[in-house]
Amino acid sequence: MADPRGFLTHRERQERPSRPVPVRIMDFKDVYERQDPSVVRTQASRCMDCGVPFCHTGCPLGNLIPEWNDLVRQGRMEEAAARLHSTNNFPEVTGRICPAPCESSCVLGINQPAVTIKQVEVSIAETVFENGWLEPVIPQRLNGHTVAVVGSGPAGLAAAQQLTRAGFTVAVYERDDRIGGLLRYGIPDFKMEKDILDRRLEQMEAEGTRFRTGVDVGTDISWDQLRRGYDAVIVATGAQRPRELELPGRTLDGIHPAMEYLVQSNRVVAGDEVPDQITAEGRHVVVLGGGDTGADCIGTAHRQGAASVTTLAIGRKPPCQRPANEPWPMTPHVFEVSTADAEGGTRTYLASTVEFLGDEHGRVRALKVAETEYRADGSRGPIPGTEHEIPADLVLLALGFTGVEETGLQEQLGLSDHRGLLARDETYMTQVPGVFACGDAGRGASLVVWAIAEGRACASAVDRHLEGWTRLPSPVRPQ
Ligand code: FAD
Repeated sequence: MADPRGFLTHRERQERPSRPVPVRIMDFKDVYERQDPSVVRTQASRCMDCGVPFCHTGCPLGNLIPEWNDLVRQGRMEEAAARLHSTNNFPEVTGRICPAPCESSCVLGINQPAVTIKQVEVSIAETVFENGWLEPVIPQRLNGHTVAVVGSGPAGLAAAQQLTRAGFTVAVYERDDRIGGLLRYGIPDFKMEKDILDRRLEQMEAEGTRFRTGVDVGTDISWDQLRRGYDAVIVATGAQRPRELELPGRTLDGIHPAMEYLVQSNRVVAGDEVPDQITAEGRHVVVLGGGDTGADCIGTAHRQGAASVTTLAIGRKPPCQRPANEPWPMTPHVFEVSTADAEGGTRTYLASTVEFLGDEHGRVRALKVAETEYRADGSRGPIPGTEHEIPADLVLLALGFTGVEETGLQEQLGLSDHRGLLARDETYMTQVPGVFACGDAGRGASLVVWAIAEGRACASAVDRHLEGWTRLPSPVRPQ
């Protein structure tokens, strides 16, 4: 058994082993390898079980982190799994791709490196699957109520699983051909291989959740029809309207929103044929934007054999302005950066694109960029005289998302817009009785852990609305 006061004896944080860069960029498989279980136990023993565990509040799901760290330390993995699943529907996902706000809140992190909470989490989740402990949780009785969930990202899936287990008859509608939302077609396999998602979906199907793929609600079936056909509707359609960059030359060939590029790549990795695929092979790639989406473009471009990959990003406003050489995404205090950062390419922060330059065939050939300055009044702009050209024959716009896409919700249901997102009250209900909204669609582009937390809370609100009371947990309030 590992030492219960491991933080006194094991001061160093041991990271998950990752495959060497030259090897891993040859394929799309997971960057990380499995950590030795004895190392995981020692790392779990670094948890101090501090009186006021801030990691609880750092995690939107309220994960019972000190409890499962202690169970792992003692080798009681099945009990650790039960504690973990009591607050999180998909720990195998968050254990891989969450930026771990819990670790940033870890009290040990005040004067030592934080506990490797995310590693312990993924280790528990994998032990569960390996040992076949993940049984379907089939409700003892059906309550007679029906719920349609629109959108199969982590928010919709979490809501669907909670409600199915509580006895509701739940159908998930998804416009894509496969279930999973951004977990399927946004996030590349090198961050999370898709069989991780498939085995969870098998469990959900066995529990009774029904999946309807290839149905674009608002077009193939109206929102109004759906509302009339079910006792409640949950809108979990995400917030995937891309931010644009209206600059001279934007319409040149070879300039694409990042999601167009990532979806195609994910499809090819899944074995689909994608005619005229946008590929980085042999190209000079410029990625505009330095967040998670930009990092996923960088990793994908390297794996496709790009000739060069350059990232340009603006950086943050003073006083927390990003230095020109700071990698991103980067989790504060824990210093975990995107794995793409180690895989090569050039990053320039505080750089603004001024114009896209094309060749005689109407294809992009370069970007005109300038250094950026923040002015005394808080505005920012290019510094005159610093303009220069960067060669580019593929440009990917990873500039974030501005809100929900146009799906007919306003015209067909009369739902109002709240800064490009769906307005809802403190019970996740929109202005239309019986229609709820959760995940990125209500909160704005965020993180998987928030989507799961909102899905769970929304399920609780639907249960209370239809049954008059609820036992389902509600970890977060809508913003
Ligand atoms: P989504 O995952 O966007 O799912 C919405 C679903 O609704 C989609 O499948 C869509 O097809 C479907 N839909 C939309 N309209 C309709 C309609 N009318 N009818 C039927 N279906 C419809 N977060 C992290 O925590 N870690 C990461 O590493 C990370 N990496 C990311 C990388 C990329 C490239 C992107 C874009 C995001 C990343 N995120 C990451 C953010 C995270 O993926 C999202 O916050 C999360 O997926 C939101 O979940 P959601 O369920 O609200 O919506």
